[in-house]
Amino acid sequence: MLSCCLRLRLRVSGPGLALPLPFLLQPPRAPGPSVRRLLPPTFDFGFRPRSLMKPFVVFVLGGPGAGKGTQCSRIVQKYGYTHLSAGDLLRDERSKPNSQYGELIEKYIREGQIVPVEITISLLKREMDRIMEASAQKNKFLIDGFPRNEDNLQGWNKTMDGKADVAFILFFDCDNEICIERCLERGKSSGRSDDNRESLAKRIQTYLQYTKPIIDLYEEMGKVRKVDASKSVDQVFEDVLKIFDKEG
Ligand code: ADP
Ligand code: AMP
Repeated sequence: MLSCCLRLRLRVSGPGLALPLPFLLQPPRAPGPSVRRLLPPTFDFGFRPRSLMKPFVVFVLGGPGAGKGTQCSRIVQKYGYTHLSAGDLLRDERSKPNSQYGELIEKYIREGQIVPVEITISLLKREMDRIMEASAQKNKFLIDGFPRNEDNLQGWNKTMDGKADVAFILFFDCDNEICIERCLERGKSSGRSDDNRESLAKRIQTYLQYTKPIIDLYEEMGKVRKVDASKSVDQVFEDVLKIFDKEG
Protein backbone atom coordinates (compact mmCIF):
# COMPACT_ATOMS: atom_id res chain seq x y z
CA MET A 1 0.00 0.00 0.00
CA LEU A 2 2.81 2.34 0.93
CA SER A 3 4.79 1.51 -2.17
CA CYS A 4 1.90 2.86 -4.24
CA CYS A 5 2.14 6.01 -2.15
CA LEU A 6 5.85 6.28 -2.83
CA ARG A 7 5.09 6.51 -6.51
CA LEU A 8 2.87 9.53 -5.99
CA ARG A 9 4.33 12.80 -7.12
CA LEU A 10 4.40 15.10 -4.12
CA ARG A 11 4.44 18.78 -4.92
CA VAL A 12 7.03 20.60 -2.89
CA SER A 13 8.42 24.08 -3.30
CA GLY A 14 11.79 24.35 -4.97
CA PRO A 15 14.47 27.04 -4.89
CA GLY A 16 13.37 30.40 -6.26
CA LEU A 17 14.68 32.07 -9.39
CA ALA A 18 17.72 34.26 -8.79
CA LEU A 19 16.80 37.66 -10.22
CA PRO A 20 18.68 40.97 -9.98
CA LEU A 21 17.36 43.30 -7.27
CA PRO A 22 16.01 46.10 -9.56
CA PHE A 23 14.00 43.47 -11.40
CA LEU A 24 12.59 42.11 -8.16
CA LEU A 25 11.49 45.58 -7.12
CA GLN A 26 9.31 46.00 -10.19
CA PRO A 27 5.62 45.21 -9.63
CA PRO A 28 4.64 41.95 -11.38
CA ARG A 29 3.54 42.68 -14.93
CA ALA A 30 1.74 40.26 -17.24
CA PRO A 31 3.41 39.92 -20.67
CA GLY A 32 1.79 41.77 -23.56
CA PRO A 33 -0.28 39.91 -26.18
CA SER A 34 2.53 39.97 -28.74
CA VAL A 35 4.85 38.12 -26.34
CA ARG A 36 2.13 35.79 -25.07
CA ARG A 37 1.34 34.61 -28.60
CA LEU A 38 4.87 33.23 -28.95
CA LEU A 39 4.76 31.15 -25.76
CA PRO A 40 3.01 27.91 -24.84
CA PRO A 41 -0.13 28.51 -22.77
CA THR A 42 1.46 26.95 -19.65
CA PHE A 43 4.66 29.04 -19.79
CA ASP A 44 5.69 30.06 -16.24
CA PHE A 45 7.27 33.52 -16.02
CA GLY A 46 8.71 32.89 -12.55
CA PHE A 47 6.45 35.46 -10.92
CA ARG A 48 2.71 35.82 -10.81
CA PRO A 49 0.13 38.54 -10.70
CA ARG A 50 -1.23 38.76 -7.17
CA SER A 51 -4.51 37.13 -8.09
CA LEU A 52 -2.59 34.03 -9.21
CA MET A 53 -0.33 33.61 -6.17
CA LYS A 54 -0.17 30.02 -5.01
CA PRO A 55 -0.88 28.99 -1.45
CA PHE A 56 2.35 28.34 0.49
CA VAL A 57 1.51 25.39 2.71
CA VAL A 58 2.98 23.77 5.83
CA PHE A 59 1.27 20.53 6.81
CA VAL A 60 1.10 20.05 10.59
CA LEU A 61 0.93 16.48 11.86
CA GLY A 62 1.23 14.57 15.13
CA GLY A 63 -0.91 12.39 17.38
CA PRO A 64 -4.20 13.61 18.88
CA GLY A 65 -3.34 16.04 21.67
CA ALA A 66 0.29 16.47 20.57
CA GLY A 67 -0.28 20.24 20.71
CA LYS A 68 -0.77 21.05 17.01
CA GLY A 69 -3.54 23.59 17.57
CA THR A 70 -1.75 25.20 20.53
CA GLN A 71 1.45 25.75 18.56
CA CYS A 72 -0.35 26.77 15.37
CA SER A 73 -2.03 29.69 17.12
CA ARG A 74 1.41 30.94 18.22
CA ILE A 75 2.85 30.54 14.71
CA VAL A 76 -0.11 32.52 13.34
CA GLN A 77 0.61 35.41 15.71
CA LYS A 78 4.31 35.54 14.93
CA TYR A 79 4.52 34.66 11.23
CA GLY A 80 1.20 35.71 9.75
CA TYR A 81 0.04 32.30 8.62
CA THR A 82 -3.61 31.29 8.46
CA HIS A 83 -4.36 28.19 10.51
CA LEU A 84 -6.71 25.69 8.89
CA SER A 85 -7.47 22.71 11.07
CA ALA A 86 -9.04 19.84 9.13
CA GLY A 87 -10.74 18.69 12.36
CA ASP A 88 -12.18 22.16 13.10
CA LEU A 89 -13.45 22.57 9.53
CA LEU A 90 -15.15 19.17 9.73
CA ARG A 91 -16.68 19.98 13.12
CA ASP A 92 -17.97 23.34 11.77
CA GLU A 93 -19.49 21.63 8.76
CA ARG A 94 -21.08 19.00 11.01
CA SER A 95 -22.77 21.65 13.11
CA LYS A 96 -24.39 23.45 10.16
CA PRO A 97 -28.11 22.65 10.43
CA ASN A 98 -28.58 21.82 6.75
CA SER A 99 -25.24 20.23 5.94
CA GLN A 100 -25.72 17.11 3.85
CA TYR A 101 -22.60 15.62 5.47
CA GLY A 102 -23.29 16.44 9.15
CA GLU A 103 -24.34 12.99 10.29
CA LEU A 104 -21.69 11.20 8.31
CA ILE A 105 -18.94 13.46 9.71
CA GLU A 106 -20.14 12.92 13.29
CA LYS A 107 -20.06 9.15 12.84
CA TYR A 108 -16.47 9.20 11.57
CA ILE A 109 -15.26 11.60 14.26
CA ARG A 110 -16.82 9.64 17.12
CA GLU A 111 -15.27 6.44 15.81
CA GLY A 112 -11.86 8.17 15.47
CA GLN A 113 -11.90 7.34 11.77
CA ILE A 114 -10.78 9.44 8.84
CA VAL A 115 -13.56 11.26 7.02
CA PRO A 116 -13.69 10.65 3.21
CA VAL A 117 -11.16 12.87 1.48
CA GLU A 118 -13.56 14.61 -0.91
CA ILE A 119 -15.29 16.30 2.01
CA THR A 120 -12.09 17.35 3.78
CA ILE A 121 -10.37 18.66 0.63
CA SER A 122 -13.40 20.63 -0.50
CA LEU A 123 -13.56 22.34 2.92
CA LEU A 124 -9.82 23.12 2.89
CA LYS A 125 -9.88 24.40 -0.68
CA ARG A 126 -12.97 26.53 -0.08
CA GLU A 127 -11.27 28.18 2.89
CA MET A 128 -7.98 28.81 1.06
CA ASP A 129 -9.85 30.30 -1.92
CA ARG A 130 -11.99 32.47 0.33
CA ILE A 131 -9.03 33.84 2.27
CA MET A 132 -6.90 34.50 -0.81
CA GLU A 133 -9.80 36.13 -2.63
CA ALA A 134 -10.17 38.54 0.27
CA SER A 135 -6.42 39.25 0.34
CA ALA A 136 -4.06 37.65 -2.18
CA GLN A 137 -1.09 38.33 0.11
CA LYS A 138 -2.55 36.01 2.73
CA ASN A 139 -1.20 32.95 0.97
CA LYS A 140 0.63 31.20 3.85
CA PHE A 141 -1.35 28.33 5.39
CA LEU A 142 -0.77 25.91 8.23
CA ILE A 143 -2.88 22.90 7.37
CA ASP A 144 -3.29 21.03 10.65
CA GLY A 145 -4.33 17.37 10.74
CA PHE A 146 -3.78 16.75 7.06
CA PRO A 147 -2.81 14.56 5.16
CA ARG A 148 -3.85 11.91 7.64
CA ASN A 149 -3.71 8.90 5.35
CA GLU A 150 -2.93 7.73 1.83
CA ASP A 151 -6.40 8.68 0.65
CA ASN A 152 -5.87 12.27 1.90
CA LEU A 153 -2.52 12.44 0.14
CA GLN A 154 -3.89 11.15 -3.15
CA GLY A 155 -6.84 13.54 -2.91
CA TRP A 156 -4.48 16.46 -2.33
CA ASN A 157 -2.28 15.52 -5.28
CA LYS A 158 -5.31 15.10 -7.51
CA THR A 159 -7.00 18.35 -6.56
CA MET A 160 -4.09 20.63 -5.69
CA ASP A 161 -1.40 19.38 -8.08
CA GLY A 162 0.44 22.50 -9.26
CA LYS A 163 -1.98 24.76 -7.39
CA ALA A 164 -0.14 24.94 -4.05
CA ASP A 165 3.44 24.60 -2.80
CA VAL A 166 3.98 22.36 0.20
CA ALA A 167 7.09 23.69 1.94
CA PHE A 168 7.53 21.09 4.69
CA ILE A 169 5.77 18.94 7.28
CA LEU A 170 5.87 20.18 10.85
CA PHE A 171 5.73 17.02 12.96
CA PHE A 172 4.87 17.20 16.66
CA ASP A 173 6.34 14.01 18.05
CA CYS A 174 4.71 13.05 21.33
CA ASP A 175 4.38 9.91 23.41
CA ASN A 176 0.93 8.31 23.09
CA GLU A 177 0.30 8.26 26.85
CA ILE A 178 1.02 11.99 27.09
CA CYS A 179 -1.32 12.61 24.13
CA ILE A 180 -4.11 10.66 25.82
CA GLU A 181 -3.67 12.49 29.15
CA ARG A 182 -3.75 15.88 27.40
CA CYS A 183 -6.90 15.04 25.45
CA LEU A 184 -8.65 13.73 28.59
CA GLU A 185 -7.76 16.98 30.34
CA ARG A 186 -8.98 18.97 27.31
CA GLY A 187 -12.15 16.85 27.30
CA LYS A 188 -13.19 18.31 30.67
CA SER A 189 -14.08 21.54 28.91
CA SER A 190 -13.86 20.97 25.12
CA GLY A 191 -17.28 19.41 24.68
CA ARG A 192 -15.71 17.22 21.97
CA SER A 193 -17.42 13.89 21.39
CA ASP A 194 -14.03 12.23 20.82
CA ASP A 195 -12.03 13.41 23.87
CA ASN A 196 -12.84 10.28 25.87
CA ARG A 197 -10.85 7.08 26.49
CA GLU A 198 -12.83 4.93 24.07
CA SER A 199 -12.52 7.33 21.11
CA LEU A 200 -8.92 8.13 22.00
CA ALA A 201 -7.85 4.49 21.82
CA LYS A 202 -9.26 4.40 18.28
CA ARG A 203 -7.73 7.76 17.34
CA ILE A 204 -4.26 6.68 18.48
CA GLN A 205 -4.68 3.42 16.57
CA THR A 206 -5.76 5.36 13.44
CA TYR A 207 -2.80 7.72 13.87
CA LEU A 208 -0.26 4.88 14.15
CA GLN A 209 -1.74 2.81 11.36
CA TYR A 210 -2.50 5.49 8.78
CA THR A 211 -0.91 8.86 9.62
CA LYS A 212 2.53 7.83 10.86
CA PRO A 213 3.36 6.08 7.55
CA ILE A 214 2.57 9.34 5.71
CA ILE A 215 4.99 11.21 8.00
CA ASP A 216 7.61 8.50 7.37
CA LEU A 217 7.08 8.90 3.66
CA TYR A 218 7.76 12.64 3.80
CA GLU A 219 10.72 11.93 6.10
CA GLU A 220 12.32 9.84 3.36
CA MET A 221 12.01 12.89 1.12
CA GLY A 222 13.75 15.11 3.68
CA LYS A 223 10.59 17.16 4.14
CA VAL A 224 9.86 16.58 7.85
CA ARG A 225 10.78 19.10 10.55
CA LYS A 226 10.38 17.20 13.81
CA VAL A 227 9.80 18.79 17.19
CA ASP A 228 9.75 17.01 20.57
CA ALA A 229 6.17 17.87 21.61
CA SER A 230 6.32 16.23 25.05
CA LYS A 231 8.03 19.35 26.47
CA SER A 232 6.22 22.39 27.87
CA VAL A 233 4.29 24.69 25.50
CA ASP A 234 7.02 27.35 25.70
CA GLN A 235 9.85 24.89 25.14
CA VAL A 236 8.08 23.37 22.15
CA PHE A 237 7.53 26.83 20.71
CA GLU A 238 11.24 27.62 21.05
CA ASP A 239 11.99 24.69 18.75
CA VAL A 240 9.21 25.73 16.38
CA LEU A 241 10.68 29.23 16.18
CA LYS A 242 14.04 27.87 15.07
CA ILE A 243 12.33 26.09 12.17
CA PHE A 244 10.21 29.04 11.03
CA ASP A 245 13.02 31.58 11.42
CA LYS A 246 14.99 29.44 9.01
CA GLU A 247 12.41 28.45 6.44
CA GLY A 248 8.93 29.71 7.23
P1 ADP B 1 -3.97 18.85 19.02
O1 ADP B 1 -4.36 20.05 18.21
O2 ADP B 1 -2.68 18.24 18.57
O3 ADP B 1 -5.07 17.84 19.18
P2 ADP B 1 -4.06 20.73 21.25
O4 ADP B 1 -3.17 21.86 20.83
O5 ADP B 1 -5.52 20.94 21.22
O6 ADP B 1 -3.65 19.37 20.49
O7 ADP B 1 -3.60 20.33 22.71
C1 ADP B 1 -4.29 19.31 23.41
C2 ADP B 1 -4.35 19.69 24.90
O8 ADP B 1 -3.05 19.66 25.46
C3 ADP B 1 -4.89 21.09 25.12
O9 ADP B 1 -5.71 21.06 26.26
C4 ADP B 1 -3.64 21.94 25.34
O10 ADP B 1 -3.87 23.01 26.18
C5 ADP B 1 -2.67 20.96 25.95
N1 ADP B 1 -1.28 21.13 25.51
C6 ADP B 1 -0.86 21.45 24.26
N2 ADP B 1 0.47 21.50 24.21
C7 ADP B 1 0.91 21.17 25.45
C8 ADP B 1 2.22 21.01 26.05
N3 ADP B 1 3.33 21.21 25.35
N4 ADP B 1 2.29 20.65 27.33
C9 ADP B 1 1.16 20.44 28.05
N5 ADP B 1 -0.10 20.57 27.58
C10 ADP B 1 -0.22 20.93 26.29
P1 AMP C 1 -8.49 16.63 15.27
O1 AMP C 1 -9.28 17.86 15.55
O2 AMP C 1 -7.31 16.90 14.38
O3 AMP C 1 -8.10 15.87 16.52
O4 AMP C 1 -9.45 15.65 14.42
C1 AMP C 1 -10.64 15.12 14.99
C2 AMP C 1 -11.28 14.13 14.03
O5 AMP C 1 -11.67 14.79 12.82
C3 AMP C 1 -10.41 12.95 13.58
O6 AMP C 1 -10.36 11.91 14.53
C4 AMP C 1 -11.13 12.55 12.27
O7 AMP C 1 -12.30 11.82 12.53
C5 AMP C 1 -11.52 13.90 11.69
N1 AMP C 1 -10.45 14.42 10.83
C6 AMP C 1 -9.54 15.37 11.16
N2 AMP C 1 -8.69 15.60 10.15
C7 AMP C 1 -9.07 14.77 9.14
C8 AMP C 1 -8.60 14.52 7.83
N3 AMP C 1 -7.51 15.12 7.34
N4 AMP C 1 -9.23 13.61 7.08
C9 AMP C 1 -10.31 13.02 7.56
N5 AMP C 1 -10.81 13.14 8.78
C10 AMP C 1 -10.20 14.03 9.58
